[in-house]
Amino acid sequence: MDEALQKRVALEKVIRDCVAHGKFVLHYQPVFEMDSKRLVGFEALVRLPAPDGTLVSPTEFIPVAEEMRMIDKIGAWVLGEACRTATSWPKELTVAVNLSPSQFESGTIEQTVTDALKESGLDPRRLELEITESLLMHNSDATMATLRRLKDMGLSVVMDDFGTGYSSLSYLWKFPFDKIKIDRSFMESFAKSGRDVETVVKTIIALGREMNMRVTVEGVETAAQVDFLYNAHADQVQGFYFGKPLPAADMTADSLAQLRKSMPPAPPGHVTNGKLRLVEPTQK
Ligand code: C2E
Ligand code: MG
Ligand code: MG
Repeated sequence: MDEALQKRVALEKVIRDCVAHGKFVLHYQPVFEMDSKRLVGFEALVRLPAPDGTLVSPTEFIPVAEEMRMIDKIGAWVLGEACRTATSWPKELTVAVNLSPSQFESGTIEQTVTDALKESGLDPRRLELEITESLLMHNSDATMATLRRLKDMGLSVVMDDFGTGYSSLSYLWKFPFDKIKIDRSFMESFAKSGRDVETVVKTIIALGREMNMRVTVEGVETAAQVDFLYNAHADQVQGFYFGKPLPAADMTADSLAQLRKSMPPAPPGHVTNGKLRLVEPTQK
């Protein structure tokens, strides 16, 4: 217990230090559209640099930062930095930012988003805000109203980690999400659970299509998963198979050009959708 407490106190100190000096790091993971085989954007993923030179995962430090009530400041930094970075990319590329429920509780999220867009000059149509179901479980009327006002700014609202919570389906008809991201646990189970996972993923993709929501599949790691997702007509894919999260500095014009070529060809027998939707933010 003593060791755990010491570790926690040390982590809190690093968080406080990084907040005070704006020392967080953002990595960006590419997202591709399957039908056009185009790079469509990146998801910004935050890391905390530890004094020993390693990067602490957000799954480890975000819950602690939430308890410390520091997530507002971290979230504002992430939004500002991600929007600024995206302005240096080709204009058709989007940037996705993860939001924490605490940013809604404090009531600062709209101002934070407005400031990030204004200061960076980023077209709001290039910004995607990713929320999880846990946000909607509490105080959902007020949260829905905030989400609507955010969407009215012209940005996209995305349901992240879809399929892992308790009642995601009811939220789908309560809020017009632009996109749902199927949690990576589905791809993790892919090889093990075979047909059953395939059926569930195909059904979610069909549901998204009916509801006019794009569907991104996360955690894609193998060629077999890619083949399946082509045939299932997933809209977008993201995962180590296509690219790990990278520091902004590694995203040179060359590496962007390389990424644009890295979608594998569709497997034989794959029929394209024909009427696939909305890649360009301007076409929304
Ligand atoms: P997420 O939003 O679902 O992000 C995807 C996570 O899956 C990332 O982990 C990414 O590195 C990982 N991933 C991507 N492709 C693969 C793959 O093919 N295989 C496997 N095994 N993993 C893959 P990461 O960066 O550790 O982030 C974890 C979570 O932390 C994120 O899950 C998100 O919920 C949260 N997070 C990240 N950045 C922020 C942030 O700026 N603010 C807030 N509030 N939460 C954040
Ligand atoms: Mg996410
Ligand atoms: Mg996710």
